[in-house]
Amino acid sequence: MQWREWISRQLETKPAELTEETGARAVVTFAARLTFEGVERRYGTYYALHQVDLDISPGEVVCLLGPSGCGKTTLLRIASGVEKPSAGRVLINDREVAGPNRFVPPEKRSVGLMFQDFALFPHLSILENVAFGLKASPRAEALREATAVLSRVGLLKFANAYPHTLSGGQQQRVALARAIVPRPSVMLMDEPFSGLDVQLRDAMQEQTLALLRETRATSLIVTHHPEEAMRLGDRIAVMRNGRIIQLGQAEDLYDQPADLFVARMFSEINEVGYPVADGQIETPLGRLQASDALSQGDNAVVCIRERGIELKPVGQGLPGRVLHVRFLGDIDLLEIGVQGFEAPLRVRTPHYAQWAKGAEVGVEIDAARVLIFPENGDPV
Ligand code: ATP
Repeated sequence: MQWREWISRQLETKPAELTEETGARAVVTFAARLTFEGVERRYGTYYALHQVDLDISPGEVVCLLGPSGCGKTTLLRIASGVEKPSAGRVLINDREVAGPNRFVPPEKRSVGLMFQDFALFPHLSILENVAFGLKASPRAEALREATAVLSRVGLLKFANAYPHTLSGGQQQRVALARAIVPRPSVMLMDEPFSGLDVQLRDAMQEQTLALLRETRATSLIVTHHPEEAMRLGDRIAVMRNGRIIQLGQAEDLYDQPADLFVARMFSEINEVGYPVADGQIETPLGRLQASDALSQGDNAVVCIRERGIELKPVGQGLPGRVLHVRFLGDIDLLEIGVQGFEAPLRVRTPHYAQWAKGAEVGVEIDAARVLIFPENGDPV
């Protein structure tokens, strides 16, 4: 049966009234403030979350970024209500939904959830999968709303199909439609793009962000890809070992990473170790000022961004020689032996610059843009 007839039977509407309007508006939600206050989660003696404070404004998109096991999913589960904090409070619009004296179950929190594996029901049609998000509503109304949202994500023609017949990107859109159809005030997404291949991921990130903006839902998105976090998040919360170690806009995290761990996440860097003497670090770039976090005799890690090194004709900057060239598409990754540095420095330059192996070059490094951290990676 054609999709138009199939939907019209479900909705008791004439086929002519149904159009595949991919430009249709999504439902608009009442965005809410989402606040975590001193949230902890312990499993026995193990702390999956330590004292997490995070305040997300209505309509804001925040990405939780960090390595595997750092507590991202646990924080998301606590926000959704499928897990309880061991200590601390969660508030939605300043109303406590989890805390020492109160616990609001997930279905009463107005949160939408979307998982990495999409979790579609294989035995339900696409329309029924989306309408499942409205299982508390009368069936006719649920189907009508589900049809509108399916139309918004451009999948109305698959309404009577089953999940296994759809591509990964299409299944992702169905999962998104199902999460959004009940008009949640808060959207919680756990690695929503990691099941997609790289080309598809780009397009789906754009479309998802557009839909989140349109619905105005406050969103918390888990990822372990820095680029994805930069692309999607109004702010990024970087997590490690159950703590938020830095929170800010992408530019802040890139320009002023709190520690070596964050610096490594946001750019490719050369790390060169030097001892600290009299509050200074003697390097081939000149004498650099050590921060207060570094004491006499400590080892400092001087971080030089691979894209922060400029190659010039011989005679400018430090003398160097191109030791190796690797073609990476738009850019080349070079290894340069630079006077004063024991090990070669890696440099990323546009491919059109065409540096050849063996070439003599001038190497310019802006000392003001170099980052310095204690060797153990602590915050400066
Ligand atoms: P990933 O990116 O791999 O999903 P994550 O940052 O989301 O990781 P979580 O799933 O939040 O990490 O887990 C944080 C830590 O808590 C991990 O060390 C995990 O093993 C532990 N943990 C999570 N759930 C439980 C549980 N039910 N019992 C015991 N330990 C748990």
